[in-house]
Amino acid sequence: MTPPRNSSATRDIATAMHPYTDARAHEANGPMIITRGEGVRVWDDQGRSYIDTVAGLWCAALGFSNERLVQAATAQMRKLPFYHAFTSKSHEPLIDLSEMLVERAPVPMSKAFFCNSGSEANDTAVKMIWYYNNAVGRPQKKKIISRVKGYHGVTVASASLTGLPANHKLFDLPIAGVFHTTTPHYYHEGRPGESEEEFATRCASDLEELILREGPETVAAMFMEPVMGAGGVIVPPKTYYEKIQAVLKKYDVLIVADEVICGFGRTGEYWGCTTFGIEPDILTCAKALSSSFLPISGVLVNDKVYQGLADGSHTIGTFGHGYTYSGHPVSAAVAVETLKIYDEMDIVGHVKKVAPLMQAGIQKLASHPLVGDARGVGLIGAIELVEDKAAKKNFDPARKIAARAQKLCEAEGLIMRILPGDGIAFSPPLVINEEEVALMMNGVTNALDKLAVELRREGFT
Ligand code: PMP
Repeated sequence: MTPPRNSSATRDIATAMHPYTDARAHEANGPMIITRGEGVRVWDDQGRSYIDTVAGLWCAALGFSNERLVQAATAQMRKLPFYHAFTSKSHEPLIDLSEMLVERAPVPMSKAFFCNSGSEANDTAVKMIWYYNNAVGRPQKKKIISRVKGYHGVTVASASLTGLPANHKLFDLPIAGVFHTTTPHYYHEGRPGESEEEFATRCASDLEELILREGPETVAAMFMEPVMGAGGVIVPPKTYYEKIQAVLKKYDVLIVADEVICGFGRTGEYWGCTTFGIEPDILTCAKALSSSFLPISGVLVNDKVYQGLADGSHTIGTFGHGYTYSGHPVSAAVAVETLKIYDEMDIVGHVKKVAPLMQAGIQKLASHPLVGDARGVGLIGAIELVEDKAAKKNFDPARKIAARAQKLCEAEGLIMRILPGDGIAFSPPLVINEEEVALMMNGVTNALDKLAVELRREGFT
């Protein structure tokens, strides 16, 4: 353990409390202070540079520098730094962004509503669904389904949708009326002798059983990330979405696509929904929407949902929901510029060009003695470290094997993200080039080789 190095570290420990951080370990070890960024790299206060292989938190799609976004923010700050969108107020950046999102949506969408984070977008979608079902005269249809290992955020409703124990049991969540169905992770959940498609059929029948058990007249919606991100980068098996959507349509359950990670090119199409043939009624997006230069998120609703919400204003009362900063003009102006840049550089074309190199690198790692599963699509992927490849047995979590790999990656000049179950995620800035992909894959391979040597010394064979 290295003691805090300088006054910034000491000041951080004295007054800052960090998200998702072991506070006592932080007091002992201090922060990693990032001082600047350029392209896919960031620099720490010791002058070391790293490729950030998860684009911060899966979000800095254009990397850590972009002059056009700086200009867009400054120009908007000079012109109109703030106005809100309550009670029919509007402004040009909000109008432009709504129009651009509706035009780019993966299925016909009617309206865009803005929030500040992925969690808020998902909470907003939950409240829209509850309000909608009140407005259309079926107040009993309120239950919401998501998936075990899904990640939808940390506010009270979205943390309830999240399907990870760490987000639930310590916070007395989930709230009533939220249910979690089977994780579509064939590697762990598939049974011996079961094909991927048979597994997909079983996932769909688990979902149907859940809906029937609760009563279809009480089940309102299902939330899904096209590729499940923070829960493990889980790419569902073929035919999964086709099969579960058939169940949802049969029981008139709304489909909510959480595109917070997948949106804007990550999966090799503009939307994860396009990659997987998902037809959502509601779509939430954030992160790459502004390439993370400023906080902003969006909720797109189709016409069926919009008409219900709009009628509600007269039949049950105004949709009393929104944030001071819903559609903040500076964030919206940056998002508009971000989407223009994606168009001009053909972000999807670029991802299609570099992603095969990253996916090939990930598949190559599958033969490493420590790697049990290697998965991904587009510029998102993961490897999972296991103790016993044949038995698909994970290491004892207390050994913190992935955290050790992460440290070794840092020594190779890579900031990596670890996932529950000793996963290591890959989700680099979308602007990454071939050479940087190669550097990233080489660095991870070196780190895993070093870890294997260390573990052999400790008795791992
Ligand atoms: N949905 C998904 C799929 C996410 O990955 C995240 C964040 N990682 C969220 C929602 C929550 O977003 P935020 O942290 O901006 O609230």
